[in-house]
Amino acid sequence: MTLPRHTIAILGGGPGGYEAALVAAQLGADVTVVDSDGLGGACVLTDCVPSKTLIETSNAMTLLNRSAGLGIASGGLATVNAARLYERITDLARAQSADITARLAAEGIKVIRAKGRLAGPQNPGVVAAGDAEIKADTILIATGALPRVLPGAPPDGERVLTWRQLYDLTELPRDLIVIGSGVTGAEFASAYQALGSRVTLVSSRDRVLPQEDEDAANHIEDVFRRRGMTVLGRSRARAVARDRDGVSVTLDDGRTVTGSHCLLTVGMIPRTEGCGLDEAGVKVDPRGFIQVDRVSRTSVPGVYAAGDCTGVLMLASVAAMQGRIAMWHALGEAVHPIRLDHVAATIFTDPEIATVGVSQRAVTAGEVSARVLKLPLATNPRAKMAGFADGFVKLLSSPGTGVILGGVVVAPRASELILAVSMAVEQRLTVEQLAQTFAVYPSLSGSITEAARKLMEFTPDIP
Ligand SMILES: Cc1cc2nc3c(=O)[nH]c(=O)nc-3n(C[C@H](O)[C@H](O)[C@H](O)COP(=O)(O)OP(=O)(O)OC[C@H]3O[C@@H](n4cnc5c(N)ncnc54)[C@H](O)[C@@H]3O)c2cc1C
Repeated sequence: MTLPRHTIAILGGGPGGYEAALVAAQLGADVTVVDSDGLGGACVLTDCVPSKTLIETSNAMTLLNRSAGLGIASGGLATVNAARLYERITDLARAQSADITARLAAEGIKVIRAKGRLAGPQNPGVVAAGDAEIKADTILIATGALPRVLPGAPPDGERVLTWRQLYDLTELPRDLIVIGSGVTGAEFASAYQALGSRVTLVSSRDRVLPQEDEDAANHIEDVFRRRGMTVLGRSRARAVARDRDGVSVTLDDGRTVTGSHCLLTVGMIPRTEGCGLDEAGVKVDPRGFIQVDRVSRTSVPGVYAAGDCTGVLMLASVAAMQGRIAMWHALGEAVHPIRLDHVAATIFTDPEIATVGVSQRAVTAGEVSARVLKLPLATNPRAKMAGFADGFVKLLSSPGTGVILGGVVVAPRASELILAVSMAVEQRLTVEQLAQTFAVYPSLSGSITEAARKLMEFTPDIP
């Protein structure tokens, strides 16, 4: 006798949705993804992938700007072809979305291009998608989030912009005002400055990246200022007005800042309007994000949620893991509840800031006991060869056992370098084990093992 296949309906085809679909199909479920805007989601089409593609070009510009110091005589100032840059970004995003579409089709996953919703309490387990209705044993909501906008600064897509509107421009902003100095604001401010825009970063807090490692944030703010960026701390933007040629941002204290364009990076709101959550009884938190437990269950049996719509940790890697965990759980597989304390993350400024594990803030707050060692990259031979001095490696270890608890790497390509620290944290390696690991000479990763050796000087012998 063949058992009926478990049917799964997934609302949203971003990393939270499509990665879940792949796992569920692999486990033999009958899977339908309902997506309104294109597979890959905002991650691939408007947010993560386009911004990182833009940043690849800005990194190349930074290198070109350093080239004279490396002994290269260039034939004048390099400039950016904005139309070509934006075309490359959108082409690449579309191609990535097409790859995902092909992969889902190859796995036998059905895709419906429509806005979907839970059909309501009279029809539990049913998803309405345009004209279609899908009866599902399990539903996963992974509808993502939208850029938050300020009431006094409605985006017009021309001069007052969310990051999703940047790639429709035909030229680089001459004078860009970035409102918000969190991860997204810092990344775009860094990138556009390298591309040649004059950048003003308006931050309501004392410093940029207020949620991040303080040394790293101070370091990047120093780099920004040295490169000519205007950073306005403790400055809350109240309103943005535009005329034909530019924008004028009014701050809470009455000052105004003028520029050619204004980019709003003031957070995200859940994209759940019209999804039928209330009617179905799916609980949300006071900000509207769907409440989930560590295996992605919502308050309604059989309904799971993953990704930015849960507000858990707005990263593609976390969205994908939440989605996979939901499917493993729903399909009766062995599953570990999600652990956010081991998530590696990167802020793609120049230099990049990569972090994993316990933060120094938690140590300072007395939540965790740890030894902390910071090693500047300025003495690293590879950094000297490449012609940069900005950056550092920071390691945190348990004073009792010497186990590596966390780390911060501020360096070009820190997103790649953090893996060594990430593995140490995940595998509970000790400072000694990291210190005794071979690193290539010369390499930036040599600073990670050197930091471990320095940390050993303080670490008691482990019996
Ligand atoms: C500028 C920027 C840069 C970023 N860079 C990184 C990075 O470098 N690394 C990283 O890990 N993360 C990054 N992120 C975060 C990452 O993009 C998100 O965490 C990720 O997109 C979340 O995936 P998701 O599946 O939850 O939602 P999304 O990617 O937003 O996908 C949701 C999908 O659901 C669809 N949808 C919405 N409502 C419905 C509905 N009712 N019916 C059907 N479909 C619907 C949408 O069309 C969309 O396709 C970045 C974010 C921003 C804003």
